[in-house]
Amino acid sequence: MVRGDDDRERVRAAVNLVEQFAAITKVKRSGRSFTALCPFHQEKTPSLSIDPARGLFYCFGCHKGGDVFTLVQETQGLSFPDALQALARQAGIVLTHRPGDGKRAADRERLVAVMRRAVDFYTRRLLSGADAGPARAYLRSRGYDRALIEKFGLGFSPTEEPSLGTELRSAGVSNSVMERAGLAVRRGWDRGPSDDGFRDRFRGRIMFPIHDLRGDPVGFGARLMGGDGPKYLNSPETPLYRKSRLLYGLHLARREISRSDRAVVVEGYTDVIAMHRAGMESAVATCGTALGEEHLEALGRLGQRIVLAFDADRAGSDAVLRGERVSRRSGRRLDLRVAELPDGKDPADLLQEDRLEEVRQAVDDSRPALQYRMERRLAGVDLTDPESRARAVNELGPLLAAVADQATRAEYERTLSRMTGAGLSEIQAVVRRGARGAGIEGRAGRRRPDDSGGPASRVIDRHAHRGSAVERELLKAVLANHPALRELEVDSTLFGQDLYRQAFQQVEADWRVTPIGRPTPIAWRGECSPDESERQGAPDEVDRELLAISADGLEPGDPRPLVIRCRRAALRREMDAIGARMRSLAADDPQRTRLLAQVVELERRRQELTGDLR
Ligand SMILES: [Zn+2]
Repeated sequence: MVRGDDDRERVRAAVNLVEQFAAITKVKRSGRSFTALCPFHQEKTPSLSIDPARGLFYCFGCHKGGDVFTLVQETQGLSFPDALQALARQAGIVLTHRPGDGKRAADRERLVAVMRRAVDFYTRRLLSGADAGPARAYLRSRGYDRALIEKFGLGFSPTEEPSLGTELRSAGVSNSVMERAGLAVRRGWDRGPSDDGFRDRFRGRIMFPIHDLRGDPVGFGARLMGGDGPKYLNSPETPLYRKSRLLYGLHLARREISRSDRAVVVEGYTDVIAMHRAGMESAVATCGTALGEEHLEALGRLGQRIVLAFDADRAGSDAVLRGERVSRRSGRRLDLRVAELPDGKDPADLLQEDRLEEVRQAVDDSRPALQYRMERRLAGVDLTDPESRARAVNELGPLLAAVADQATRAEYERTLSRMTGAGLSEIQAVVRRGARGAGIEGRAGRRRPDDSGGPASRVIDRHAHRGSAVERELLKAVLANHPALRELEVDSTLFGQDLYRQAFQQVEADWRVTPIGRPTPIAWRGECSPDESERQGAPDEVDRELLAISADGLEPGDPRPLVIRCRRAALRREMDAIGARMRSLAADDPQRTRLLAQVVELERRRQELTGDLR
């Protein structure tokens, strides 16, 4: 048995898959199995089935499937080792092999342990330190009580001894580990004669610990309480702390984000805390940086709608462009919105003024971020003046061009035409220009790393509407007798379109015996051949397609991604066929369980292929 498999099975046996689903979505019993509203896609009637006996699930709507680990990984954005650990913790199981047991995991654990000690030290100091009086008074004035301080692990970093460094050193933590955790800095000019060259990074500040998704403290945001220095100071980048990825409060908010399918991004740490206090528990904030693509990706894995509830001007065009890039890449449409808070105030201030309802209303009334940008840009523009109107339209063109979804983009083109009075064709021309300027093909949907650049990708773009472009490309690689195909499993099951499957079958035998370096000959069925009666007459549709493909010029790109994509589609077809059989069976038919297991296995193979593609 592979190391750690034992742990995996113990955890699997201890957790109840149905309960795990029930915690995040609506679950209904149906015979021996259960159905649920799928947490992975938007739906009104449940199409996800759960087999509690085998611990497997599968959604017939979006084709997600797997076991309890898949569920936790996908809904909480965790890696497998993290999901295993999270579930083990929930079930009260102590893992015999720490997941990912190795140097890096051990190093991470050591740093997290130091961070935990630091959080604990700062909190104790805040609650009882004589030097923390002003910090306590400040927090009291904002209405923070002890429960809140403990929930968010707030603390105070002292200027006086005993310092964090003193405490950690006496517990055997070395200066270099403290430095790597971002807690200590090397002294420069101010080095004293008796100290050992390090001092605490944070001094005289209210401490806001920043956690990763599983709730481990990985960094701090720190607000100055007096003395000199920047008002807010954050941890430096460390092996644990990556500000481009982390969101403050996400470990507390993720469940509510999954449940409501909506995240609210606010400006600062105190805004997050204020929102949680007010019962809006899907609030998060970036840690002293702009909302980037990795943040959007992390949020998008949990919920589709992302509401930006911070200073309206900063919720700018950049956020719109990033959101669309993430939508394109993930193939999952992010619904990025802007909430306009009353008087341009922050949630913390509004809640301090007892204006909870107004905040809630602003979030509920949020508008699509792009529409918001359009309105902002056009506000105050004299639309009767052709030049200023053209300037505004030209500026908005690239934003509209970035919209990943074609139908949505068309809708915005019509809206902009209505708002400005400019003709729809004029708008469309500007958007097309914007697309070229931004290097975006006028193509909807997902964009994979393998279909950028190269002659193959242009052809795929041109034929994308036919849905069979990839199969056609693969067929072209067969006709070109691409050497890489010889190491891949290529057979007729890869082709879902009758036309291309027949075309492949027609040339397959010749292809397999054609030496590398020569193209596959096309013997078409219309060829006059007295002893093969079916090969008479004019070229049929299959012949014509083969000829058309070779007439395009046989310069296919790397066929590996094509084979993977066709293989994935083939697995999907198999799964759909099984799904159709399952639907025809009664809810308690014992066969269903076996079929569900098959589907889950196929989905697992499909997912593995995705990994190869990246
Ligand atoms: Zn689904």
